Amino acid sequence: MKSLLFDSTIAAIATPAGYGGIGIIKISGANALSIALSVFSLTPSLDKSVKVPSGVSFFESHRLYHGYVVDFQNKTVIDEVLLSVMLAPRSYTTQDVIEINCHSGQVVLNSILELVVSMGAKLAEPGEFTKRAFLSGRIDLTRAESVIDVINAKSNMALKIATNHMLGGMQNSIELIKEALIKILAHLELSIDFNNDHTEEFEILSIAESLQIEVVDRLNLLLEQFKRYHVLRQGFKVVIAGKPNVGKSSIMNRLLKKERVIVTPIPGTTRDLIEENLFLNGISISLTDTAGIRQHPDNIEKIGILMANDRFLESDLILLVVDSSGPLSIDDYKILNKIKNKNIILVINKTDLPPGLDMDTLPDEWSNLKNIRTSALNNTGINSLTGAIFNFFSGIKPVEEGTIIPNLRQKYSLEKSLGFALNAKESLSLGVSAELISIDLRESIDSLGEITGAVKSDEILDQVFANFCIGK
Ligand code: GDP
Repeated sequence: MKSLLFDSTIAAIATPAGYGGIGIIKISGANALSIALSVFSLTPSLDKSVKVPSGVSFFESHRLYHGYVVDFQNKTVIDEVLLSVMLAPRSYTTQDVIEINCHSGQVVLNSILELVVSMGAKLAEPGEFTKRAFLSGRIDLTRAESVIDVINAKSNMALKIATNHMLGGMQNSIELIKEALIKILAHLELSIDFNNDHTEEFEILSIAESLQIEVVDRLNLLLEQFKRYHVLRQGFKVVIAGKPNVGKSSIMNRLLKKERVIVTPIPGTTRDLIEENLFLNGISISLTDTAGIRQHPDNIEKIGILMANDRFLESDLILLVVDSSGPLSIDDYKILNKIKNKNIILVINKTDLPPGLDMDTLPDEWSNLKNIRTSALNNTGINSLTGAIFNFFSGIKPVEEGTIIPNLRQKYSLEKSLGFALNAKESLSLGVSAELISIDLRESIDSLGEITGAVKSDEILDQVFANFCIGK
């Protein structure tokens, strides 16, 4: 797999689609420099006595060269660029890597990419640059995965965790457990093969203890951290609920500080669910506006309502909006009844209108709810609402900084490894033969190897790199 992959020189646009100051075409492989030079004309030195150099040997690693991308066949200049040269092995992929820093627009980027491909480069697959870094042994699989986690991070915390992995945090945690398992395996084989019965019993206890403390407890801790972090990584889910026309969409727009949801005085205008991301001091929140829940919905509304019900179930917090200008209706009660087991902030909206809702006379189920008074129309109370949402989530401190958090793929392998370690522990206590126990210990080690990539399978690699974007 390795040699095939490394034979070709690959190229891709590394910057996102759109217009901007800088776009980058990345090239990696043995022919990266010669391909780049076949489309590049170096700017002559200001000192006219210096001859314009040519040939790959002139270009030094880790230097930038100013010049032009030129289609020499058609004699046209495509763009003014900077060429970054990073020669093997000191590059991202460990191969020669050239980055053409041009201006960012789809036509210019595509023209340069086409030109580079016409000179012999192959279009890179998603994640192929990082895959090369992994297959060359420069980074392990947890570090490779961290690259995509950094890109996808939705909160400061997610970013810190991904960076920890990038620096080798996950890899080190796994290696520690793996080393412990290898030691235990050696201990088991030595002690059981060569000692007498009495010592054996003592040895078994000591092996079981190491297995518990150095393997099982550590694996459990990582799995526990996954659970606690899961919520944060996905971002918190906040749903805005309430009967039609109480101002849900207006509240959503005020929270997002933009007009995303069409606000109309006709009940039931928000027929689908509308989801947007909101960042509150580094916490990522996905905010969903629900279709109004009504007694006799038409069909389109019904779909929205069904979806909304699911959203209610999976939400972390519900903003239940009511209209302060009139008494609560049967629909308000029905909605509260539906969500009563969830975390709720009651948003008493339309406080700019003459009051028609007396909170003091309401039953406990309402008056016990934390409430915030707002006027979405006049934009009052929105800061208090934002503060209440933030306080609600910042109270949940799922993980501390620097904690190593496995991702979903790693979690499955950790669970597998734990399963084998627990089997081994049980077998020890049952006096099962050392040969059989060592099979479980080896499986436990191999499951950890899947995490770092020490145990490779095409399936695992495909799974990891499928999530990557092209150009990374
Ligand atoms: P939804 O059906 O619950 O999403 O309600 P909308 O946000 O579409 O609002 C329904 C109507 O109430 C619109 O005419 C809004 O302009 C109006 N509205 C929303 N919030 C307020 C408010 O705080 N005060 C007043 N007076 N009207 C509001």
